Amino acid sequence: MKHYSHIETSFIHGGISTDEYTGAVNVPIYQTSTYAQKNIGTDVKWEYSRTGNPTRAALESLIAELEVGDAGFAFGSGMAALTAVISLFKSGDKILISSNVYGGTYRVLDKIFSNFGITYQITDTTDLKAFEEAITPEVKAVIVETPANPLLTITDLQAIAQIAHRHSLKAIADNTFMTPYLQRPLEHGFDIVVHSATKYIGGHSDVVAGLVVTKEPEDSQKIAFIQNATGGVAGPFDSFLMIRGIKTLAVRMDRHAQNAQDIAEYLQLHNGVKTVYYPGLAGFKGHEIHKKQAKNGGAMISFELTEEYDIKKFFPSLKLITLAESLGGVESLVCHPASMTHASIPRELRLKLGITDNLIRLSVGIENASDLISDLKQAIDSSRI
Ligand code: PLP
Repeated sequence: MKHYSHIETSFIHGGISTDEYTGAVNVPIYQTSTYAQKNIGTDVKWEYSRTGNPTRAALESLIAELEVGDAGFAFGSGMAALTAVISLFKSGDKILISSNVYGGTYRVLDKIFSNFGITYQITDTTDLKAFEEAITPEVKAVIVETPANPLLTITDLQAIAQIAHRHSLKAIADNTFMTPYLQRPLEHGFDIVVHSATKYIGGHSDVVAGLVVTKEPEDSQKIAFIQNATGGVAGPFDSFLMIRGIKTLAVRMDRHAQNAQDIAEYLQLHNGVKTVYYPGLAGFKGHEIHKKQAKNGGAMISFELTEEYDIKKFFPSLKLITLAESLGGVESLVCHPASMTHASIPRELRLKLGITDNLIRLSVGIENASDLISDLKQAIDSSRI
């Protein structure tokens, strides 16, 4: 694997970046399910596209290089990637998950893996003592999101990895919000990284996909086996879109984050806003830890309107920012976590986690920051009761 001194260069030239057969500067979309073989019993590199496909392989080697891991794996969605990783465990095993993990991660554990005897426990991974106390002999892994969805809760990656390894747990990070440009959990001691590549890696809201990167060759072999056996692979065209998205990741993330910083600072000053959650703000809880492990605050902001504002008037008042699920695209999107991304979490538990009915989550795009601020201002102002 080549390693350039700067990740911006690896985004463009890392992994398998040209076509070994034709020299094409972009890896072609090998839209094929199978490959001709010369004779039976001969060793072939490509035999069937669930097992391996050259476009997917180029992406897989690229993401492994970017996350500084042993191997990469591309899946049909972030949930398929998470499902493959959770499939490393067996009946009787328990997984700790940080509070505020993506609702779908909670749901797949609660509604699917529980049927196979794999249990989970929501744990406050920002509290290292509470995390260590939650580790019992059946606990085999921890899944961390930092910043965690949607309150941007910050977990100390290095500290969690150290505690996890002391108790022989696998440390798994969902790095969707940060991307390898802003944060690389394997460098902080984590064992496995997962992405919903639907978000910043694809970057243009035109692909649903997932990625996994493993640090230990033993885990690489296991995930390769699971990927082939369960079959939730990314197709060649989606793999191509991810490679294309990655080429501009650095410039996009810089602009996303600068816009987010400007917007968070503006929202802090608005009377209608009770709380702003953004890791790039100096006073934000976890800001110092975040600064230690990530390049900047990223581009996800959550904020809560005061009781004098009606959330139901806010969303239809937006003229530029679109109300939609998902995040990480070039366009700014806004969502209502309580009824959208986190609706699968029972209300009582949601409120306990701090996901109130007045909470708004904003995925800051790469439009002009002043245009975004004007749109937010007029929507907040017109939702005053
Ligand atoms: N992880 C995080 C942090 C997410 O935000 C999402 C989706 O929103 C997922 C995982 C699931 O990914 P996908 O929608 O690509 O299946």
